[in-house]
Amino acid sequence: MARCLVLLLALLASFIFFGPVRTLTLDYASSPQAPPRQAERAKSSCRCFPGDACWPEQNSWDAFNRTLGGKLIATVPIAAPCHNEAFPPYDAARCDTLRNTYFFPETHLENPSSVMAPFFTNNTCNPFLPASVPCTLGYYVSYAVRASDASDYQKTIAFTNKHNIRLVIRNTGHDYNGKSTGAGAVSIWTHNMKSIELKDYRSLSFTGKAMKMSAGVEVKEAYEFADSRGVMVIGGNCPTVGIVGGYSQGGGHGPLVSKFGLAADQVLEWEVVTAAGRLLTATPDQNQDLYWALCGGGGGTYGAVVSLTAKTYPATTVSSATISFTNTGYNADEFYDAVGTLIESLPSMVDAGAVVIWLITPQAFLVEPATAPGVSKADLDNLFQPLIDNLQENAVPYTYMSQEYPTYLQSYNAMNAPWNVSQNQLGQ
Ligand SMILES: Cc1cc2nc3c(=O)[nH]c(=O)nc-3n(C[C@H](O)[C@H](O)[C@H](O)COP(=O)(O)OP(=O)(O)OC[C@H]3O[C@@H](n4cnc5c(N)ncnc54)[C@H](O)[C@@H]3O)c2cc1C
Repeated sequence: MARCLVLLLALLASFIFFGPVRTLTLDYASSPQAPPRQAERAKSSCRCFPGDACWPEQNSWDAFNRTLGGKLIATVPIAAPCHNEAFPPYDAARCDTLRNTYFFPETHLENPSSVMAPFFTNNTCNPFLPASVPCTLGYYVSYAVRASDASDYQKTIAFTNKHNIRLVIRNTGHDYNGKSTGAGAVSIWTHNMKSIELKDYRSLSFTGKAMKMSAGVEVKEAYEFADSRGVMVIGGNCPTVGIVGGYSQGGGHGPLVSKFGLAADQVLEWEVVTAAGRLLTATPDQNQDLYWALCGGGGGTYGAVVSLTAKTYPATTVSSATISFTNTGYNADEFYDAVGTLIESLPSMVDAGAVVIWLITPQAFLVEPATAPGVSKADLDNLFQPLIDNLQENAVPYTYMSQEYPTYLQSYNAMNAPWNVSQNQLGQ
């Protein structure tokens, strides 16, 4: 819990730049698909919404679904079994199961419409409210397209543009600002696009092993693939964040970034469907503007990414450490003195290639963890020595642990307990 809070506080600065849910605006002038005649397009500048006269008839949705080979999914809110009306009836057993697992990312990953920040469902269909409370679509998308490839993206973009329907892209649903959901929207759901490939890559700026990852690949899946091929790839702390989605497109912080740079700095190539429906490759030398915009400009902003290709690094040993001490009240000066010592040590830790995730509250301070690729345990211990000396001199009790692991994956697995996304909802 503490690690999660630290990380999320550290990310707050980037979150505050995120705007509300954005939609792609299509430029049919350059679309490869036949543009709809002007008369067919809705006149309003507002999006067409369920219940509006412009909302497509069922036969249009059925026809759209046929073009997709049956990948269109009408939304049933994840908590429908906990309520009496509108969707499949109340089911006590399924509701209990959902309540017990609701705050774990895995519960939402496999669902085409659910989001992990319940705030952005606006109590649309809350599993913890009584069964008599209505369950509605509310802020959930109306439909999701279970995408397999770029052509599914293109068909969805064309359909939503033709009918002036809001479009969102949903990968894992992790976004704490609710950007992967939207009332009255159709979503491109990328979660099932899982292919990963290790390539010998050569470009003007990079020659070496690179990983090409499809839109649905999660951090832990990328780590495991890289480990099995003797390389390391840059990812985040949370195993289920989408490495190709909002994570890399938003910059991408993680345990290896002090040494190798942010995830966005690793991207060699984006395969992306633009708002005009064109499939492009964006690199530092080709479609450069789009390339640079996607390298940190924010998920769902500049196009729908099909895959990214990222630099990898040869596997190394990784040392990790944790330390914690408490403020018992009578030792406040010593407590804050020790915190100051750690803060003074941070530049040398970062210069050595370590990422130090730390948390301070009025009651306690903890580092959980420090991760140092290519640094020996002895060297990592030395970096913590000023803090340990300070704690010992001031007789502040502490707990310190450090270990050198043969691989990054082993360090990551040892240092990351299962995540619970309920405890820190920055969106609220
Ligand atoms: C528990 C937790 C831990 C986290 N840990 C870290 C961390 O260690 N480091 C870090 O940097 N961040 C971290 N984050 C933040 C995370 O990187 C962002 O929330 C990110 O936006 C999630 O991306 P996603 O694709 O998984 O999620 P989604 O909610 O599915 O999507 C997020 C945004 O990206 C867009 N998007 C998704 N896929 C695509 C695509 N293929 N093309 C275009 N747009 C797309 C969506 O439309 C949405 O706007 C964490 C978040 C949580 C909730």
